[in-house]
Amino acid sequence: MADDARDLLRVRDLSTRFFTEEGQVNAVESVDFDVRDGEVFGIVGESGSGKSVTALSVVDLVESPGRVTSGEVWYRNPDLAEEVDDPEAVDGDFVDVRGVSESVRRALRGPSFSMIFQDPMSSLNPSLTVGEQIAEAVEVQRRARANPRSTRSRTQGYGLFDMLSSTVLPSRKYVTEESRDRAVELLEQVGIPDPADRADEYPHQFSGGMLQRAMIAQALAGEPDLLIADEPTTALDVTIQAQILDLLKDLQAETGMSIVMITHNLGVIARMCDRVGVMYAGEVVERGTLGDVFDDPVHPYTQGLLGSIPDLDDPAARLQPIEGNVPDLYDSEMGDRCYFADRCPYAMEECLSHPPEFDADAAPTGSPDGAADPGDPVESKVDAGHHGVRCVLADHEYDESQALPEGYFVERPDAAGDAEGVNADD
Ligand code: SF4
Repeated sequence: MADDARDLLRVRDLSTRFFTEEGQVNAVESVDFDVRDGEVFGIVGESGSGKSVTALSVVDLVESPGRVTSGEVWYRNPDLAEEVDDPEAVDGDFVDVRGVSESVRRALRGPSFSMIFQDPMSSLNPSLTVGEQIAEAVEVQRRARANPRSTRSRTQGYGLFDMLSSTVLPSRKYVTEESRDRAVELLEQVGIPDPADRADEYPHQFSGGMLQRAMIAQALAGEPDLLIADEPTTALDVTIQAQILDLLKDLQAETGMSIVMITHNLGVIARMCDRVGVMYAGEVVERGTLGDVFDDPVHPYTQGLLGSIPDLDDPAARLQPIEGNVPDLYDSEMGDRCYFADRCPYAMEECLSHPPEFDADAAPTGSPDGAADPGDPVESKVDAGHHGVRCVLADHEYDESQALPEGYFVERPDAAGDAEGVNADD
């Protein structure tokens, strides 16, 4: 990535809730991050940390009972910025895609944002050939370019009308020869051998690795500015994983697109990404360059993730797993504490108030003796390009005299919502 790369995407204060019968689930909580031109931005965290919902929120694919409840997704697109009438939704060359109409948001999927999912077998239609499905994606984008004002062409794929018309009236095929040829080219581009023959095969005739390549080909149909890859190698064996990651890197170099790589695998992050955001309980708890996060991690959760990786130089060393589990994220149970406090070896009284995000490279902002005043939480807003950490340890050192007593959260399971301080000898 060039040093002078500009932001392509700026995500600000993005929050997504699920309104279930059991209660409100805060799946994504005030998330901020930037994605620059031609970079790979990684989002890493355990299952249930909100990674995938964050990605779905960016591309407006959250389904009921979920809803993006607040935040902005600024996308740099000067042409679109000129077309949008609402001044609130435009800032220079950037457009807040949450501030434009639903039809425009849909139209951005494909040529602007595209997504590949973790399970290609369930994402492709088993009753259509692979080539047909990729050609259909190409056709939707081709029609959109030919007639950009047509809501139907920009927002709909192969609908009932198209199915009936192409079946009953074979001369009225939805997908043109040109799009079929382009589908074969895309299959070739992603390394499928004999692409013209393979295009006529069905998903069950493809191996897992080839299916994932086909999914990538489909995602490239609109020549997107941003490709979101949601755990794209999880279902694959390690050698195929490496091939798919190399393929994504090669395609990025070829096309100049940006990639958001979502994974629970720190090895994938280390191999692929320029910058990374670590998610826990719906929040980005640490964010920075690969060097910031891997060489100088500050948040105890990031340190825990890195500590749970096997050490190849010392294979006999015991792994250090992070005790406990990601919370259920029910609003009623989250309270106002640091969400990691019940698993954190450094939890202190002040952590019973929700910590702001600190700039790990900035001067401490706590009280002169090094300890923050829990009654006066520091309000900070860290530039999304900096080494941001949502933990008081980014501001001042651990103070053992303020440590929460061992078993505090076990003995007080209702402590999640308890923002009152306790004495260490309680
Ligand atoms: S704010 Fe406190 S409890 Fe949370 S991660 Fe930092 S030290 Fe641990």
